[in-house]
Amino acid sequence: MRAKPDYSKLKGVCFYKSNVLMMTPNEEQFKSLDEVPSPFSSRFFDASKNYAAVDLETSRNCPFSCLYCCASTDNMTAKESKLVKLSLERTKADILTIAKNNIQYFGIINPNFGLFPEDLEIAKFIAECKQTYGFPTHIFTSTTRKHFDRLKKIAQLFHHAGITAGWEIPVQTLDDTAMIKTNRIQNFNDYISLTDFMNKEGIDSYAEYIWPLPGETLDSFKTGIAKLCRANAHVIFVYPFTFTNNIGMEKHKLEYGIETTVSETPYSEDEFVIKTNEVSYADNLNGCRFVLAETSCTVCVLYS
Ligand code: SF4
Repeated sequence: MRAKPDYSKLKGVCFYKSNVLMMTPNEEQFKSLDEVPSPFSSRFFDASKNYAAVDLETSRNCPFSCLYCCASTDNMTAKESKLVKLSLERTKADILTIAKNNIQYFGIINPNFGLFPEDLEIAKFIAECKQTYGFPTHIFTSTTRKHFDRLKKIAQLFHHAGITAGWEIPVQTLDDTAMIKTNRIQNFNDYISLTDFMNKEGIDSYAEYIWPLPGETLDSFKTGIAKLCRANAHVIFVYPFTFTNNIGMEKHKLEYGIETTVSETPYSEDEFVIKTNEVSYADNLNGCRFVLAETSCTVCVLYS
């Protein structure tokens, strides 16, 4: 690094020059993740280090429009974002390197693993690698909210190959008003069917819920958690609604009565929602207390 680097030669950066804030033009969008050189076939991958865990990004951004999510290509601030993928050929080559180097923990970085037909092909290849080389032994990823039939096949493939994977069941809300306000309409029966399948097959899964999304009330939240318990969701993760500065909900912040508190993590730009039109500060705290107390039929975990 030079003592006085010239940031103006870099794309997509903000910097101060003589106390004036400068911005350089955005970097060109990738058309394919193949444009990023593979670390696995470069000198950056040093097999002698015996890595235990690696991540591979197979797909970036999401075609859905959930207003609380920064992965959506359809929100206000990410209008130019495109869905980009890693080719199947490159994905398989990188996975082969991971398996041949005895790497146990493999993160498939993809906001919707299972959404695309090639995800089943990728899963088959991972299962074959496990059977041939004994690795990877553990998979973690984010799962699709659609095409659960494909997701069931993928979960079963990993299970039969002896790969450990805890599958997220991305519910987020079961309240009709909250679904409309967040632009995420879904059918609860699909989640019941997926949970049933995982339970019958002996595959670990956990339901995810976000508290408090606009439209959700304290009562509807308790009802939603109770519905999940009745559907035999053995583990439920409840996440606080993290309000980042590039989500589609930004333009509804005033309308939805959203108030936030800033994250205490150094340099983080995240904010946590502590109030909405339907949820007062007191209700918000009571919702958190409810999560911590609700351990009778399931394990509820509040992440923050
Ligand atoms: S929450 Fe999931 S389905 Fe919705 S936009 Fe984000 S990644 Fe896509």
